[in-house]
Amino acid sequence: MSLARSDQIQLDRFRDYLEDVAVREIGYPVAFDFDYSALAPFLSFSLNNAGDPFMPMTYLLNSHEFEREVVSFYARLTRAPQDQWWGYVTNGSTESNLYGLYLARELLPDGIVYFSQDSHYSVGKNLHFLNMRHIMIRSRPNGEMDYDDLRETLKIRRDAPPIIFANIGTTMKEARDDISVIRNILDDLAIESRYVHCDAALSGGYAAFLDPPPAWDFEDGADSIAISGHKFLGSPIPCGIVLARRRHVERIGQSVAYIGSVDTTISGSRNGYTPLVLWYAIKSLGIEGMRQRTEHSLATAAYAEEQLQLEGIEAWRNPQALTVVFPTPPEEVREKWQLASADGYSHLICMPHISCRQVDELIDDIRQAGGS
Ligand SMILES: *Cc1c(COP(=O)(O)O)cnc(C)c1O
Repeated sequence: MSLARSDQIQLDRFRDYLEDVAVREIGYPVAFDFDYSALAPFLSFSLNNAGDPFMPMTYLLNSHEFEREVVSFYARLTRAPQDQWWGYVTNGSTESNLYGLYLARELLPDGIVYFSQDSHYSVGKNLHFLNMRHIMIRSRPNGEMDYDDLRETLKIRRDAPPIIFANIGTTMKEARDDISVIRNILDDLAIESRYVHCDAALSGGYAAFLDPPPAWDFEDGADSIAISGHKFLGSPIPCGIVLARRRHVERIGQSVAYIGSVDTTISGSRNGYTPLVLWYAIKSLGIEGMRQRTEHSLATAAYAEEQLQLEGIEAWRNPQALTVVFPTPPEEVREKWQLASADGYSHLICMPHISCRQVDELIDDIRQAGGS
């Protein structure tokens, strides 16, 4: 395989462009501080992880072994009940959330999904795919679910079992819905038939390392959990992890002769490369490395919040959040730093690769643009 000269030039130009824009990316929750060049040789194989990673497969060019280690690692971090969980590596949290909602619908076909106003934009689409009844719950100003609104709404819909879609780190404000509070509300109302899915796409990569940790995992009452792999951990290819209680998954698997496996996943052919990437990250960082990344990112976020405030900008963040929220700066600054914005505010997300120097440069730009 070789390229014409003009095509090679196009490719080279794209690389230069990426190197240029990457240093000014502080608005999206993706870590860049990785080096997976040791995995380059594996790009020479057509890896495919079709089917259930815990079952044998006829096609032998799969990385199921690594995928199992990755999901087992996250099962421990999310305090999943021993041997009573199942999971796989997905294409990202949209798929992980779709999977959690799919399980919920199979278990509670008459259920109503409750999710807050601050939920990710993909939730509406997933609910539409699954044709599930749903009710949007108000958010508090910090982006967290308004538990009073949840309680009042549950009270008047007692005929249908609730499926709670909780956010563990909302997209814009990194607010975390407290699933122990939610569980208490359900207990209070004597609602036994229920399902709790946690969208931990953003915070799932580091929630276990926060002190104190938020109420978000299986011991806290989750039935399934979604975590993005390309966000906090860092991956050149979007990917995610979904975990669920095993007894829920056992309701849906179907044996498929063609692949010689069980069809428990959403996609047929599945990425065999991203499990290697996640495995490499987990093995090279270890728990200690992840803890350090979390502390470093929290320190950068605290620095950014403080420096913006010193500049007279009304910046704030949720407790133990890596996301700093502030009024949207002038357009040229917003564009240059790729700042996601909504309703007049923007955020910067202090992923592990973000340095205090980048924060200083952003603030300089805001000052020069007359935005402070
Ligand atoms: C990023 C994100 C998603 C979607 O995840 P993808 O991996 O981009 O599909 C869903 N929910 C939240 C809260 C997110 O931050």
